Amino acid sequence: MHVLLPSLLACPRCKAELLIREPHCLCKKCEISYTIEHGIPLLSDSAINRDKRLAVEEHAQNQARHMYIDANSIVNKREEYLYQDLMNGLSELSGPVADIGCGVGRLGHVLNKTRRGNIDLIGMDLTTSLLSHAGEGYASLVEGDIHRLPFKSNVFSAVILHNILHHAVDPQKAFQESVRVLKPGGIVQMYDPRYFSFIENIKRILPRDQSAFAPTHTAFSLKQYRTLLHDPSIRLETLTIKAIDPIGPVVSTLLDLAHTGALGIADSIGWLLNKIDRTIDFLDPTHTLGLMVLARARKLP
Ligand SMILES: [Zn+2]
Repeated sequence: MHVLLPSLLACPRCKAELLIREPHCLCKKCEISYTIEHGIPLLSDSAINRDKRLAVEEHAQNQARHMYIDANSIVNKREEYLYQDLMNGLSELSGPVADIGCGVGRLGHVLNKTRRGNIDLIGMDLTTSLLSHAGEGYASLVEGDIHRLPFKSNVFSAVILHNILHHAVDPQKAFQESVRVLKPGGIVQMYDPRYFSFIENIKRILPRDQSAFAPTHTAFSLKQYRTLLHDPSIRLETLTIKAIDPIGPVVSTLLDLAHTGALGIADSIGWLLNKIDRTIDFLDPTHTLGLMVLARARKLP
């Protein structure tokens, strides 16, 4: 376990300090004992047993695992370019940074390949099977529930919410928790898709019990994001649409279904799709076509 982690962790139930005695951590207040497995504190506190919607989402994420780790996936290659939008906001930071909903750890992987500054990246996810693929670029990993973060208040320099709020059962609660764990002056950066009716219709056609889309998998309009991200303790600095074209995810998914990446051209196609995204960005200065919403907020001192 990274030396920093005990100073960040808190009991998910009562937020009291945890006494770390591997392979357990014990809440000093409510005296509940949580297991540490392979260096990962399991602090979701059986969230999937308490909320059936979380259990369905966790199952969907397990189903999608093979796609997330596919080195030949066009979807994954294309998304790596999108991480640059997030990286731009991290370069001036130092200290602990939480990657909430880190999944298989792609942010850490991309961060390791680029200039990362002086940050300690802490990855957290509800799905332990995804965490087992993460590691590169992370100081530590934690299993936890975004609605009840297992971290102390006011400890992180930044919180990254990358493609996660649209998976949350209660996105508002998830955002409030992210703000709680931020230091005063710290930033929360969100990158999430917005609502497009044709994408929602495609999701509806797919079999819900088998696919990566749980019924709570949703998307919001820019106006809804503005409401969702409202919190009296933050100042919203940026809320903008990134003109990543909404066709890109559909095209890359279709190419993956045709196993195009197995031809050894995943890198080239990912690069090409990114060029198309950026060209649309250039040709559409009002960003009305863009799929992704980038938000950046700072916690007030
Ligand atoms: Zn406790």
